[in-house]
Amino acid sequence: MAATIIDGKQIAADMRAELKKEIAKLKEDGIVPGLGVILVGDDPASRSYVTAKERTCEELGIFSDDNRLPEDVTQEDLLALVEKMNNDPKINGILVQLPLPKHLDEAEVLLAINPDKDVDGFHPMNIGKMVAGQKAFLPCTPHGVIKLLERAGVTIEGAHAVIVGRSNIVGKPLANMLIQKAPGGNATVTVCHTRTKDLAHHTLQADILIAAAGRPNTITADMVKQGAAVIDVGVNRVEDATKKRGYRLTGDVDFEAVKEKASVITPVPGGVGPMTITMLMYNTTESAKRAAAKT
Ligand code: NAP
Repeated sequence: MAATIIDGKQIAADMRAELKKEIAKLKEDGIVPGLGVILVGDDPASRSYVTAKERTCEELGIFSDDNRLPEDVTQEDLLALVEKMNNDPKINGILVQLPLPKHLDEAEVLLAINPDKDVDGFHPMNIGKMVAGQKAFLPCTPHGVIKLLERAGVTIEGAHAVIVGRSNIVGKPLANMLIQKAPGGNATVTVCHTRTKDLAHHTLQADILIAAAGRPNTITADMVKQGAAVIDVGVNRVEDATKKRGYRLTGDVDFEAVKEKASVITPVPGGVGPMTITMLMYNTTESAKRAAAKT
């Protein structure tokens, strides 16, 4: 029997509707979550991500402070803007769109963000807290994966989760979240990468298989256990002359074949993607609540 398709668009829309209600309630108490956005340069992909984030802020009633900086901005000026946002009580979350131009020191910029406003969850303080199982801002894409699994009714506790990919923004944090002794965790986790021997040997054991490799067809049907839950984080452009823009987006999983074996599966697009921005809004709202609780 073909898998149930996990509708990430719908799940993200449901979560945003819940957040919108919560934000409206917060407003009655004079609390307006605020997101400071910094985009350096004019990379079209980064510009479209940032625009989507700003649009979602508007949809939910989150104040957004949008800052476009020229490609040749100095490290000093960028750090000064981060510091200004760190001290601005209207800003609860700071988002520096990555990647930054090569002359800028990305690690220094991320370190300069006040961890209490680090809604991307990339600050070492938040990473450390996450690993230690303490309250932290969780990185948006892997957190979105956990929410998708939960809302699709997949049992995480006790499952063997196999992750293909060990990046700092997806694979590593996801592995950490899944092993936590907490709701959304308690899985047994295997993390695979390019030096893994016999990838299929590992993926075939997965009750939950998460592909985050950034390569089309990394996961084919013969690598998937019957009835596994398959989450495809990958977003890849493949040439397609039939499309106006000359390409189409595809994930890391051979979707058509794998859906015949999996119990549930996410499509690309429309799976993990819509969750990422939603989780950013979730973290920004959380941050506003935490700031209000401190005053
Ligand atoms: P990344 O930094 O390039 O990391 C890819 C990881 O996959 C690396 O750990 C790499 O191993 C591993 N890998 C690559 N090919 C492999 C193979 N054939 N077998 C086993 N492991 C393999 O990528 P990323 O930033 O984590 O992103 C992964 C994908 O998710 C990309 O397509 C990206 O566009 C997408 N993404 C989507 C969202 C979203 O919102 N939907 C957000 C973030 C990322 P090594 O470490 O050994 O090199």
